[in-house]
Amino acid sequence: MVTIHQLTKRYGDRVAVGDLTVEVPRGVVAGFIGPNGAGKTTTMAMLLGLVRPTSGNATVLGRSIHHPERYLGRVGALLEGPAMWPALTGVENLRVLARLGGHDERRIPEVIELVGLADRARDRYGRYSLGMKQRLGIAAALLGDPELLILDEPTNGLDPVGMIDMRDLIARIAAEGRTVLVSSHILNELEQVCDWLLIIEQGTLVYAGSAREFAGRTGNDILLAPADGSDLPVLADIVAAEGLEPKSDGSRLTVSIDHRDPRQMAASLNRAAFATGIVLAELTVHRPTLESTYLRLIEGDVA
Ligand code: ATP
Repeated sequence: MVTIHQLTKRYGDRVAVGDLTVEVPRGVVAGFIGPNGAGKTTTMAMLLGLVRPTSGNATVLGRSIHHPERYLGRVGALLEGPAMWPALTGVENLRVLARLGGHDERRIPEVIELVGLADRARDRYGRYSLGMKQRLGIAAALLGDPELLILDEPTNGLDPVGMIDMRDLIARIAAEGRTVLVSSHILNELEQVCDWLLIIEQGTLVYAGSAREFAGRTGNDILLAPADGSDLPVLADIVAAEGLEPKSDGSRLTVSIDHRDPRQMAASLNRAAFATGIVLAELTVHRPTLESTYLRLIEGDVA
C-alpha cells in the first residue's frame, strides 16, 4: 500500500526524517509510533504530497509521491485536526467538502453513520466536542471512499471515552477493507487496534512489522511480594536459585521469565517460597504490553 525508500527531509541542519525505508502492507491498521518530534507528521505530509522530500522516494498505491495527483483521489487524510466551518452543521460541512472535493454527496449519510454522528449531524460544528470534531474530520476523509486512510494523532487531546470511540471507529473502518496508517506518541492508545507497527525515533526506523511479533519479543514478568517485607532478601535468593534475575522496588520483586511457561514458573516460585516459610501476599503474571516492550526496546533490553 505504501513503500518508503531512503526518504529524508531536512530543515536546515535538522533532520526531521532520515533515510527512512519501510513498507505498509495492504489491509492492515498500521500504528505509526514515535515520541514528539520523531518525524511522523513530516512523513505523513510527504506521503500526501504536502511536503517535498529532500531526498529518497516513496510510493502510495504504487504511484510515486512526486506525483500525488495520481493517487490522492484514493487516499483520505486527517492531519493536525480538521478544518471546518463552525457556523455550519456537521452535515452541511460535509456537503461543502464533498462539492469542493468532487465527491458523491450520497455518501454523506453513510459516513456520518459510520463515525457515530447520526444523531448530532444537524447540530452546529462549533458546538461539537473535540471527539466529535475529530470524528467528523474522519467522516470528511472517508467521503472519497479511500483505499488508504492517513490519520495524524486522531486521539490527541481526547478523554478516555473519546479514545475508545476513536479506536472503535478505526476498527470499523479497517473492517470495511481499508488500510489505515495512524500515528500516535502513546502506544497503549493504539495497542488494541493496530496489527502492524512502524516505530520511529528521531526520524529513523526502530521497528517495522506485525504488532503481535513485536509484543512477543519480550516474555512475561512475574511479580511477587512477601507478606512480611523483611523476607524480601530471602525471597530474592529463592528467585535467583531458579536461575532468574529479580529486580526489587523495596517491597516487591519483578522477574522477567522470558518465554518460559508463566503458570509453571509462578507455581514453582510459590512452592519454593512456601518451603522456606515465606507466605506470598502477591504473585501475578504480567503479560507484556506494547508500551512495556517499547520501553525495554529503547533501554536496549530487547533486540
Ligand atoms: P509530534 O508527535 O510532536 O507531532 P512528529 O513525530 O509528528 O511529532 P514532526 O512534526 O514530523 O514530528 O517533526 C519532526 C522534526 O522536524 C521536529 O524536530 C520538528 O521540529 C521539525 N520540523 C517539522 N516541521 C518543520 C518545519 N516546517 N520547519 C522546521 N522544522 C520542522
